[in-house]
Amino acid sequence: MQTYDYIVVGAGSAGAAVANRLSADPRNKVLLLEAGRASHPWSFIPIGMAWLITNPAANWLYSSEPEASTNGRRLPVPRGKLLGGSSSINGMVFVRGQAQDFDTWAQFGNRGWSYTEVLPFFKRMESYAGEGDDTFRGREGPLRVTNPKPRGSLFATIIKAAAQVGIRHNPDYNGASQEGIAMSQATIAGGRRMSTARCYLDPVRNRRNLHIEIEALTEKLVLDGKRCTGVRYSVAGEVREALAGRAVVVSAGAFNSPQLLELSGIGQPERLRNLGIEVRHELPGVGENLRDHYVPRTRWLVGKKGITFNDRGRGLGLARQVLHYALFRQGMLAMTGAPIRAFVCSREGLEAPDLMLGWIPMLTEPSPRGPRISPQSGLTLYAHAMRPESKGHVHITAADARRPPAINFNFLSSPPDAELTVRAVRIARSIMTAPAMTPFQMSELAPGADRTTDDEILDWVKKAAETTYHPVGTCKMGSDPMAVVDAQLRVHGIAGLRVADASIMPTLTSGNTNAPSIMIGEKAADMVLSTAT
Ligand SMILES: Cc1cc2nc3c(=O)[nH]c(=O)nc-3n(C[C@H](O)[C@H](O)[C@H](O)COP(=O)(O)OP(=O)(O)OC[C@H]3O[C@@H](n4cnc5c(N)ncnc54)[C@H](O)[C@@H]3O)c2cc1C
Repeated sequence: MQTYDYIVVGAGSAGAAVANRLSADPRNKVLLLEAGRASHPWSFIPIGMAWLITNPAANWLYSSEPEASTNGRRLPVPRGKLLGGSSSINGMVFVRGQAQDFDTWAQFGNRGWSYTEVLPFFKRMESYAGEGDDTFRGREGPLRVTNPKPRGSLFATIIKAAAQVGIRHNPDYNGASQEGIAMSQATIAGGRRMSTARCYLDPVRNRRNLHIEIEALTEKLVLDGKRCTGVRYSVAGEVREALAGRAVVVSAGAFNSPQLLELSGIGQPERLRNLGIEVRHELPGVGENLRDHYVPRTRWLVGKKGITFNDRGRGLGLARQVLHYALFRQGMLAMTGAPIRAFVCSREGLEAPDLMLGWIPMLTEPSPRGPRISPQSGLTLYAHAMRPESKGHVHITAADARRPPAINFNFLSSPPDAELTVRAVRIARSIMTAPAMTPFQMSELAPGADRTTDDEILDWVKKAAETTYHPVGTCKMGSDPMAVVDAQLRVHGIAGLRVADASIMPTLTSGNTNAPSIMIGEKAADMVLSTAT
């Protein structure tokens, strides 16, 4: 049995940052356990996301339970299973969220989490290469973030169309204000994906006090009364134990962090007993408060040739893109999943945007092996509420770390979410039918121009919407009875144990969740080093 000062479970967006910062002091002996492999060939090239999203070699490939809001469908729920976690398979869009998101967390009683207090961590984590105000942006951190310039008529036309419906261009939505339309900032540099594996782990692999163990599935936390003393994990069928002298930090993500707590007897007593798990500590909030973005994708045919990636991504066009990438590390192969986005207010008088829209410059269609590029030429525009109120839950279904948990999103259960989703679809329509788009000869495929009433749009949402893979909240930070960790990310009632990843977010941030997850990892490391466990 090995003894470490700190054990970090999960080398994802947050966990990689935690392990990097904790091991910066050579006196700290750190073990980082990751269930997945070291990397996947597609995880280096941005376009590789298209293959990683359905790839069992790098992905947990969960799916949700059928529910009324999905018209009985199971939604695909990909999660990264390799070093870098979901940052190694995600869409590489970089969005921090709004100042109000973090101020709300602080107002819930989470001292230290206001925007002013998290901003230094957002700055410390990034090396931002775009224009922007250094009051808000960092230039020397490990994570490389770029701001692509719009090229060609497609993106310029969309920006013009947005202006025609009153949405201004915002050069830095991660700066003073989020509102407006912009090219998506990207965790891409030199045509390569900037995962946390690449930016936080690769540079420190030779630290003698950091031991990274891959293909190591943590099955259980080891508890001595109300203190966590280590972990039990398996590598190639062999069960091992490691001891943590100071703390175990669970960073296994919004589904697997609550799973690990439940497997260890921490959670809702009746649920655990029913699965034959000995209850070690009652904590009713474990696995509750699951929040995610429920996202309808409007689809548009484009009559004008040569505009969309459907045209440019086939035959000779594709060959040209491959060559362009090989020579310059740019073009279609080096872009985020949705290279242009807008943050929009659903109605006048709001202090800050409540909707996000993201353009995918092509049409895709479902296939048994995941979405694939459509033979038709077109655009996809997704549009959704950024801070949905609906809450679901995730729980284990067996006392076995290999069995996927049951994921119930409970989307649209809060009436304002449904209303905002319909509003988002209407705003998407208004941009796509603005005069600037006329030369593209657009026609609406989905929801379809004949769906005009709120009920008709909502009916389509239930049949067609998906998530954009932003689950959070299942080990909520706070001090109310449903909170799982306190503001120092210590698990309530268990010494020596913290959770640090997207699961601790009390509410969803306004936008994509990779940046705030990394910030949580950065801040967690500071708290682990500076406060008692
Ligand atoms: C397909 C996809 C696209 C996305 N696109 C974007 C985007 O463009 N922009 C954006 O900001 N966000 C995006 N996201 C969301 C974002 O990537 C996540 O919110 C973020 O990575 C979550 O970080 P985390 O640290 O909480 O979890 P993760 O990064 O998922 O890390 C958890 C890690 O723990 C490991 N693990 C789990 N259980 C165990 C165990 N028992 N033992 C050992 N290891 C374990 C996992 O394998 C994984 O490596 C996307 C996510 C996905 C899946």
